[in-house]
Amino acid sequence: MRKYKLRKHKIANSLLRNYIFLALTMIFLIIITSFIVSIFAFALYFNTPSSFSVTDASSLMNDDYTKIDYATIENLGGYADVLDKNNNIIYSQGNSPNDKSKYTIEDFNKIILSSSFEVVEDGYIYRSAYNKDKDFLLVVAIPENYDTTIPKHKLTPKIFGVISAFCGLLILALFFIIYSRLSSRNFVKPLSALTEGAKIFAKGDYSARINISSNNEFGELRDAFNTMAEKIQKETTLREESEEARRRLILDISHDLKNPLSSILGYSNLLLSEEVTPEESSKYLEIINNNSERANELIQDLFDFSKLQSTDFKLTLEDTDICEFLREAIAFYIPEIEEKEFLYDFDIDDDSFFIPMDKKHLWRALSNLINNSLKYNPKGTFIKISGNKINHSFKIVIEDTGIGIPKDLQTEIFHPFVRVDDSRNSKSGGSGLGLAIAKNIIEKHGGIIELLSEKDLGCKFIIFLYKDNT
Ligand code: ADP
Repeated sequence: MRKYKLRKHKIANSLLRNYIFLALTMIFLIIITSFIVSIFAFALYFNTPSSFSVTDASSLMNDDYTKIDYATIENLGGYADVLDKNNNIIYSQGNSPNDKSKYTIEDFNKIILSSSFEVVEDGYIYRSAYNKDKDFLLVVAIPENYDTTIPKHKLTPKIFGVISAFCGLLILALFFIIYSRLSSRNFVKPLSALTEGAKIFAKGDYSARINISSNNEFGELRDAFNTMAEKIQKETTLREESEEARRRLILDISHDLKNPLSSILGYSNLLLSEEVTPEESSKYLEIINNNSERANELIQDLFDFSKLQSTDFKLTLEDTDICEFLREAIAFYIPEIEEKEFLYDFDIDDDSFFIPMDKKHLWRALSNLINNSLKYNPKGTFIKISGNKINHSFKIVIEDTGIGIPKDLQTEIFHPFVRVDDSRNSKSGGSGLGLAIAKNIIEKHGGIIELLSEKDLGCKFIIFLYKDNT
């Protein structure tokens, strides 16, 4: 049965969390807002005075008695009278039970203490206050059993609505600011870091990396970006290096071909001048021949090296006994070794050891190493070739006690056109490609080659080849 892997939608989960948080907070805020608005409305508008002293006449006093706020008294079912110094009622508001125009002595007796205390008489609570400046007396009366449900102030639905909406909006605005900050931390921040990184990268700075700590899809995007950036940076460096190597190669080739070609040109011009003796002519011809050979060798090596470097190049592998192969190579070189008066020793395993190899190319690699020993070292040099099985690998060592290669060139010597000493080589005519070709062939076989060497102490080339080189 096919199994479906559950994908983790981390951003979706995070959004869900935010939405739940938003919804819960909204509910909470609505409750809090309603509560605050209710308390506010109740405190301001529904608070009923516990006693009439709240509507103390002196607290209502105004020099212009027509502008006094009589609304509360009227709402409580009471009334107010304004008296002049002769006790005439000069102004009256509310539901007065009598229609007199003047207060009598009797009336005064009843409310005589009302300027200091509440006086209850005839079913009314009286309070009074005297305005010294305008010389009038304000008498207010409210029914003894006034209706406590009547609001102190009038709360219109419009005012209540405006206050509630204002409080609600204020709290919501605060909440949205906090919520947007929260969202920004989770989404906007990684997004802007990603955009910033991509912009720097687009400008050609391939060292740009994104550094965000998200472990959701943004984190995956960061990892993908950083991996891509790393690959592109590596490839760019490689491309620059190979471009540099190509430039150096062209320079080296033209430099190495220049000498034999100008010599060929010079001596052939001399031959054409018709003023040469037969002895000079044969000498010049020999020089031309030598230089042509040298140029030809160089071009041949270059051709072989380029072929090995090409992506189309394939070895023709066949399982071969490497011990037998080495014995054949040694047998081939013994006459030349002896002719050059070298001392020698060979140590090849007696047992067979089969590895997949391209005989032609491996022969070329080993010949380059043996030829170098014979070419660059004086007679009397000791050369040793050994081949031994080590577990699943086969170790070949070609060493000599000759002039050696300086330690600092041990790695570089395998690069094309690298030579120890140009004057020495110009005599022996090396192309500087022999070791580069040998290394390429060994590596194409899945093996490794390294050099242990020191100036004047000889060279030791160590090769490892493996049974499984695919
Ligand atoms: P070339 O075609 O010049 O021989 P190689 O790549 O084969 O180029 O060798 C590079 C250089 O390393 C040679 O020019 C030589 O100076 C030095 N070299 C290589 N093998 C030996 C050796 N066995 N002893 C001394 N010098 C060596």
